[in-house]
Amino acid sequence: MQTVMYTDTIFGPIRSRRLGSSLGVNLMPNDGKICTFDCLYCEAGYNAQGPGKSGMPSRATVARLLSERLAELHAAGQPVDTITFSGNGEPTVHPDFAGIIDDTLAERDRFYPEAQVSVLCNSTMLDRPEVVEALRRVDNPILKLDSAIDSTIRALDRPNRPGFCAEQVIGNLADFGPKAIVQTLITRGTHDGAVVDNSTPEEVDALIEAYRRIGARRVMLYTIDRPTPERSLQRVPRAELDAIAARITAETGAEVEVAG
Ligand code: SF4
Repeated sequence: MQTVMYTDTIFGPIRSRRLGSSLGVNLMPNDGKICTFDCLYCEAGYNAQGPGKSGMPSRATVARLLSERLAELHAAGQPVDTITFSGNGEPTVHPDFAGIIDDTLAERDRFYPEAQVSVLCNSTMLDRPEVVEALRRVDNPILKLDSAIDSTIRALDRPNRPGFCAEQVIGNLADFGPKAIVQTLITRGTHDGAVVDNSTPEEVDALIEAYRRIGARRVMLYTIDRPTPERSLQRVPRAELDAIAARITAETGAEVEVAG
């Protein structure tokens, strides 16, 4: 059954908790999902729904659709604060991701030079130099790290690349450099009878150590906001997120933005 959220390559603008008036770009199929993770909280549903039949849009199609939509919004006087890559899976999996970023930056400069380009990325492709270079060219490379403990990443994010481990992703995030915005979703619940919880003191200690090693200057903390495929997952109260954020800032110096 299709549960994807996005049925268009260009969608919105939508009002984002974190990014303001955000025009979305979905590089994955419009009728299925492709991701190197299969997070229990994924708003686009589980990977089991399949990749659909439409395939990923080509670089030329994305450029044309984005240009047309930006021209339309500009003519109507509508604000665009950010152009955000997210959607039905992991955008950096697209084989022309780097070229699409270059096209997007050019279209942004043409129509909305003040707008930011943001990419929500799950950090699994940071071992590819062309992906890293493209992410460094955008204003906001928002890179996921949900846990610094392998068993928790496996339980919550369910990576499907063999050999993926927390140590490797922390190393790749450290190599990325100061522009990285590290994003962590905090939640707790159960899945298949096992507890999944990245809000425990042990988890927060490990995350803080990872942010320190990464040299993170900015961290985004958030919790679930919409119904999740694993329905037992809970929103973590704002006060708890604020307390975690205060610890992160005190112990690493990172600026922490909380949405929740
Ligand atoms: S990384 Fe993002 S798109 Fe992929 S499964 Fe997780 S939440 Fe969904």
